[in-house]
Amino acid sequence: MAKRIDDLCPRPQLAPLLPGEPLAPPIHLSSVYRCQTPEQAAALLAGELPGYVYRRDGHPNADFLADKCRQLHSAQRAAITASGMGALALALVSQTTAGDHLIVSSRLYGRSHLLLVDEAATRGLTSSVVDTSHLAAIEEAITPHTRMIVVETITNPLLRVANLSALAELAHEHDVLLVVDNSLAGPAICRPLELGADLVVESLTKSMNGHSDVLLGMLAGGDLVWKRVPQALSTWGWTAAPFDCWLAARGLETLALRSERSSANALSVARFLATGPGAIEVVHYPGLPNHPDHDLAARQFDGHFGSLVTFTLSGGADAAAEFIAAASRIPFCPSFGENSTTLSHPASTSHRGLSHEARQALGIDDGTIRLSVGIESSETIIEILAESLARSR
Ligand SMILES: *Cc1c(COP(=O)(O)O)cnc(C)c1O
Repeated sequence: MAKRIDDLCPRPQLAPLLPGEPLAPPIHLSSVYRCQTPEQAAALLAGELPGYVYRRDGHPNADFLADKCRQLHSAQRAAITASGMGALALALVSQTTAGDHLIVSSRLYGRSHLLLVDEAATRGLTSSVVDTSHLAAIEEAITPHTRMIVVETITNPLLRVANLSALAELAHEHDVLLVVDNSLAGPAICRPLELGADLVVESLTKSMNGHSDVLLGMLAGGDLVWKRVPQALSTWGWTAAPFDCWLAARGLETLALRSERSSANALSVARFLATGPGAIEVVHYPGLPNHPDHDLAARQFDGHFGSLVTFTLSGGADAAAEFIAAASRIPFCPSFGENSTTLSHPASTSHRGLSHEARQALGIDDGTIRLSVGIESSETIIEILAESLARSR
């Protein structure tokens, strides 16, 4: 399977070849397209003719990127949105109505929790927040109104892995949709639709683009769940900009290569950190045999475990601040999936909205650091970490 992804990423668009056709795709910035006749305009707007009229309804750069994503995820349909949150909002709006009930993982990305619990409540939906590592807890939360279960393939920052085939089976037994946020894994590591999920959401802002210069999202799934997607996407105004789509399509060409390298580097880094240098207390990486989801990850992920590695320093917030200062060669920025190694501090960034107690309950300490391992040489990354850990001891 990895070979198929390797081949899909760099392939150029297979349009009918004209002499002088550019190899690199052009950027179509026009916000509107010319129609030849009123009949043609009506047919184009009704979707009866292929082609473009108004950019919010669709444009070639979004379609090109969507088609790549569709192929990478073995999906029948895919759509691009202006952010990862836009893609999750599109999933919510296109699949649910007032009165529906959602089951959401207790380890979701903070904004996703806000969307699927707080924002959803303002639209007349109810939500149960459940530890989705326990299938029995999900089954207990299912009601006759439950419409979807939302989980992340790999969670942030402790990198718990969802058992996607078991979740899909449970969801379908109860006529519920399984929606998977695959942002931390990406299609080179995991393809949730192949494991039975109904919809996959990704923030293309992260490893799919890989260069930290784009904000984009993707929703992919089958024909059966697609009925309301195109209208909701244009009507709620989540359309992505052509230049962003063009940049992400360019980043995507090297996705398989980057994922392989950053995953291999992350494994080396995790193994180094697991030797306990400096004040390290615990290391979380699904590729390490002591991770609670190691066996599941090994089965589900074609031998790669992703580019994120998390560790906790004894000494709490002070130890974290000292390490971050000592490791100034690794940029501190609250995102991930960038070509170069970056780090983040969940307690002051992604999880600052939670109380200290709520963070502790999730296993996030004030001394917890999350690395997003890049594609440099693993020797250099480990050297910087070793020096910084020794200085911050
Ligand atoms: C970043 C992220 C999002 C949101 O994506 P944006 O592109 O920032 O809107 C959603 N889910 C997860 C798991 C993320 O990491």
